[in-house]
Amino acid sequence: MNKGVHLVGRSIQMSAFYFHRDTEGRIKIMAASINRNYENLKENYLFAEISKRVKAYETAHPEADIIRMGIGDVTRPLPPAVVKALEEASEEMGNASTFRGYGPEQGYEFLREAIRSYYRRFGVERSLEEIFISDGAKSDLGNILDIFGLDNTVLVTDPVYPVYVDTNIMAGRNIIYAKASEENQFLPMPEPGLEADLIYLCSPNNPTGAVYNREQLKEWVDFANKNGSVILFDSAYECFVTGEIPHSIFEIEGAESCAIEFCSFSKKAGFTGTRCGYTVVPMALVREGISLNHLWLRRQTTKFNGVPYIVQRAAASVFTEEGEKQIRENLDYYRENARIITDTLDNMKIWYTGGSHSPYIWLKCPDGMDSWTFFDEMLCRANIVGTPGEGFGEGGKYYFRLTAFSTREATREAMERFRNIFGKD
Ligand code: PLP
Repeated sequence: MNKGVHLVGRSIQMSAFYFHRDTEGRIKIMAASINRNYENLKENYLFAEISKRVKAYETAHPEADIIRMGIGDVTRPLPPAVVKALEEASEEMGNASTFRGYGPEQGYEFLREAIRSYYRRFGVERSLEEIFISDGAKSDLGNILDIFGLDNTVLVTDPVYPVYVDTNIMAGRNIIYAKASEENQFLPMPEPGLEADLIYLCSPNNPTGAVYNREQLKEWVDFANKNGSVILFDSAYECFVTGEIPHSIFEIEGAESCAIEFCSFSKKAGFTGTRCGYTVVPMALVREGISLNHLWLRRQTTKFNGVPYIVQRAAASVFTEEGEKQIRENLDYYRENARIITDTLDNMKIWYTGGSHSPYIWLKCPDGMDSWTFFDEMLCRANIVGTPGEGFGEGGKYYFRLTAFSTREATREAMERFRNIFGKD
């Protein structure tokens, strides 16, 4: 096979095509090559398999009243303050004197300033240059990998939010797993001999609902600073945290030299369909003598053209007095759902993590059932849909995720059925 040499005008360029001669001597041009790392991705069949099983059951039992407590989407609509902000910003966009075109790639200052003030409530001081507005945490969790070398070893927990794994498989990085289990309350800690360059921590955690306390996060921060690792801290569920538990990794001394934080308006304010989040890359975060903040700014200004003005106005309204009050009501609504679930599990003496500081409840399947067997039992006997833990990794094989994002009525009804059926076995 030969590398093609291409004549363009007066210059000679090496082009990306390859050619070879077939047995008859004809020249054959080879097609563009693809990223073969994609072949290493496991088929993401979790939610497809769930809907297949639910559909089959519904077809056989059309009368069944199925309660869905599986997917992590919210049910409360956007708060009125957010809707008002969207309407007002739309009006502005329709008026020549207030119309806005391309905005700053990093986000409008009014929103970054609001986020900066929010951080101050937890005693965290960040500069505006360190805050980047995005169309959600998922995009940035994937995109951030652009600024890291392919030779980095990546540590994720097992079970894990699958985005961390798949984005690194796509890039061909080596992934290692920290086992989360009942023994460590699903909160793995640095262990002797651990070597990892990029460390994903998600707290409050999806799927397990487990939450790191200050001392545990300090251990991770110390580990990262000692080893030159970078912590990718996903705080998408920080809004559920109360009391002494940290909302942000930057509440931990030393984090600014080893961590990047990803956050989202999705669960905080019902933005799962509206799309907005933010990423914080401290100026003090430097590797190989290069500022990661500068790399990320370069990456964003090259590949991203910003979040819509109207969406950023909507996100900023989340931090107004009115917005905060309405959001608190929604979060309290989900918290109460979580309490209904955990009260039921407490009464039934079923082991679980989560439910406080988190909308996820991660329970141990009763009677040693594996998670797909329990899924079928829940579906067929209680008509409740949850998420089998195995979908998040081997470590979830005997666990099951319920979410507090349903309606109050559905949550109550589901727990009544759950108690009646599994409490009597
Ligand atoms: N991180 C975690 C742990 C999540 O569970 C989710 C969404 O479910 C996200 C990030 C994605 O958030 P966003 O909607 O902002 O993309």
